[in-house]
Amino acid sequence: MFYTSPLMAKHGIKAVFSDRQGGVSRDEFESLNLGFGLGDTDANVQCNLQTLCQSAEMPIPHQVEQVHGAQALVCSGSGKIHKQDADILITAEKGVALAVRTADCLPILLADKQAGIIAAVHAGWRGTVAKVAEEALAKMLERGAEVNHVLVSLGPCIAPCCFAVSDDVAGQLCDACSQNVTLKKSGQTYADLAKTNYSQLLALGVNAENIELSKHCTVCGTQPSFFSYRRDSGQTGRQLSIISLS
Ligand SMILES: [Zn+2]
Repeated sequence: MFYTSPLMAKHGIKAVFSDRQGGVSRDEFESLNLGFGLGDTDANVQCNLQTLCQSAEMPIPHQVEQVHGAQALVCSGSGKIHKQDADILITAEKGVALAVRTADCLPILLADKQAGIIAAVHAGWRGTVAKVAEEALAKMLERGAEVNHVLVSLGPCIAPCCFAVSDDVAGQLCDACSQNVTLKKSGQTYADLAKTNYSQLLALGVNAENIELSKHCTVCGTQPSFFSYRRDSGQTGRQLSIISLS
């Protein structure tokens, strides 16, 4: 159903990444679909959300309308789905949970335990090129976080084994982090979305030992398996990545 970030847990922060097992949804949404409005019933998604939050012992999280940009929404109070367009959620309020939905895009969870600030980020390739992770970190630092204390967990996303891209997208991702984050295989270019974000955060001074990478690929991973927009040609559910401050 989900795994807990070992890095965040070690520092007393709750952060979890769901997979597609353990829910009630059927067919292309089988079974733990956490995305409303994709064709699954709202009742199924609501049930899945309750099950995940109860199992993970986390409050119902805040969510936003994700648009592949770099806008932030500051959240407080009870969790709900905001109608606002944003790809960063941030809070300094205890008992508040934040979540992003993904199916191949990269979920990024950030925390500064000492400052009591957390953020959740949705980073597809467009958001990565728009430097959404950098923007989230800047927003945390504005509110009193210290870069040396910032912990980052990069969740399951489309990995370089499966992320075939055009040369144009490859170039934009390399430019976004001033590194070569691509490889060629049989004439096709593949990009490393997680490494692009990792490199951006390292360049801003986040400590390497404070950044955790997922070992899963959402496209070809089987244990566990994930919803994958690319593999399933858009007809699929969503994972949820949740972080909370206690
Ligand atoms: Zn793969």
